[in-house]
Amino acid sequence: MQLNDKIYVAGHRGMVGGAISRRLQTLGYNNLVTRTSAELDLRSQAAVNEFFATEKPEYVFLAAAKVGGIHANNTYRAEFLYDNLIMEANIIHAAHQNGVKKLMFLGSSCIYPKMAPQPLREDSLLTGLLEPTNEPYAIAKIAGIKLCEAYRDQYGANFISVMPTNLYGIGDNYHPENSHVLPALIRRFHEAKENNAPEVTVWGSGTPKREFLYADDLAAACVYLMLHYDGKELVNIGTGEDLTIRELAETVKEVVGYTGALVFDATKPDGTPRKLMDVSKLNNLGWKHSVELKEGLQLAYADFLQKKQMVTL
Ligand code: GDP
Repeated sequence: MQLNDKIYVAGHRGMVGGAISRRLQTLGYNNLVTRTSAELDLRSQAAVNEFFATEKPEYVFLAAAKVGGIHANNTYRAEFLYDNLIMEANIIHAAHQNGVKKLMFLGSSCIYPKMAPQPLREDSLLTGLLEPTNEPYAIAKIAGIKLCEAYRDQYGANFISVMPTNLYGIGDNYHPENSHVLPALIRRFHEAKENNAPEVTVWGSGTPKREFLYADDLAAACVYLMLHYDGKELVNIGTGEDLTIRELAETVKEVVGYTGALVFDATKPDGTPRKLMDVSKLNNLGWKHSVELKEGLQLAYADFLQKKQMVTL
């Protein structure tokens, strides 16, 4: 991938696609092509085909997806399956038909079986049943991985797949119900501090463990692998470190500066008990994360405060 090669970042308005675009620009890539969802509906096969035929991108980062937290995944099950399946099918097929030199597909750590041995190794894929709350999303992502593999096997396409762990950072979604745990807690603790609320509710038991990677670190890893990895096998992207939801809540509380109490709402689902990535393959390929959780939380909270002034979240 040369500095003036044409690179399409699908999903550049999202947290991940935005971070990948910034990373590419920082490194000097000067021929990025992007489309908003209003300009190009990725669910339309005709529109995607026309876009690829006209623009002829040489490299593609497939970071467009319908995403959300445990509640959104469990509630909008049809859209999470249909939208993700159709978007990735349209893009991967059009990339193949239009001679894209290399494509990176972004999966998710939730594609691994619920009870897979921890830390999650890449070869755990399809060895057991999925977590029911996000099964539709996971099935769509598994289909995307298999599409990349199939175009590679049948046509020799250089389509690679990476598996990011739970992400957070600049441009995250802070919706009170539909977001992931980390942005949800940033918002809830902030509002509790503003309103002098005596307590903050955290969903579930607080005992599930999760790993979190700062989105700019993910973007750095994606660009690194686009440059240095051509294999068929998946590559996990994470920190290799996790903590309980209770510990996360305590850390967010401290970063936000809230002094009240925590209560746990056991009527809300816990989801998968643990989702720690085995990142030895990524480390052996020469990449390691650089933003630790506390620092990343401070950056994310600053971004939240800045956005809050511009829009009503
Ligand atoms: P998951 O990693 O796919 O399970 O997705 P989430 O990020 O939505 O949830 C992770 C864990 O955090 C689950 O055990 C949730 O029950 C817990 N959690 C605690 N409070 C919240 C919250 O306010 N929002 C969300 N989404 N999850 C929460």
